[in-house]
Amino acid sequence: MDQFFNLHSPPEKLRRQNQRVAAVEASPQIHPCQRCGACCGYFRVEFDAWEADPRQNENSVPAELAERAGEGKLCMIGTNVKSRPKCIALGGRIGERVMCTIYQNRSTPCRDFHPSFEEGKHNARCDEARRRYGLKPLRPADYPTRDFPTPAEIPAAPHAEVPASQGP
Ligand code: SF4
Ligand code: SF4
Repeated sequence: MDQFFNLHSPPEKLRRQNQRVAAVEASPQIHPCQRCGACCGYFRVEFDAWEADPRQNENSVPAELAERAGEGKLCMIGTNVKSRPKCIALGGRIGERVMCTIYQNRSTPCRDFHPSFEEGKHNARCDEARRRYGLKPLRPADYPTRDFPTPAEIPAAPHAEVPASQGP
């Protein structure tokens, strides 16, 4: 599933994303992903090893939360399993209230995974993960309409990437 990886995400992109994160965190309303987390418990989250190197990435993924996944690759612990994957960094209960405990330091595939209709586009893989936990697909109406950042300020969804072909 290499087409889902951004292998050369520049630091500037990460800085912009973190600015968007701050905008969302300042919002009094809850993003739908914060009541879901299904993709963090469904997909394998694999990324380039440089993302966990603080010399190359100022928002590096904590290396102790990742494991080797091949030459030059790492994946989040807990996601590289065939049965019931769940990212070690996910806090809370899926489908109720969740948080990524390394949100500012999550990897590129997590940042690049967008929940359905966050920016107007349907994401069938978001639906797929939610279905696994008995959650209905998101609709445009599920997004807060007041006191919420504009689409340009909304970050990549706080969740995963890489469908677990080996998923449940
Ligand atoms: S991206 Fe989709 S599956 Fe992932 S937490 Fe958000 S709503 Fe849930
Ligand atoms: S966003 Fe990524 S790092 Fe954070 S809990 Fe989900 S899969 Fe793990």
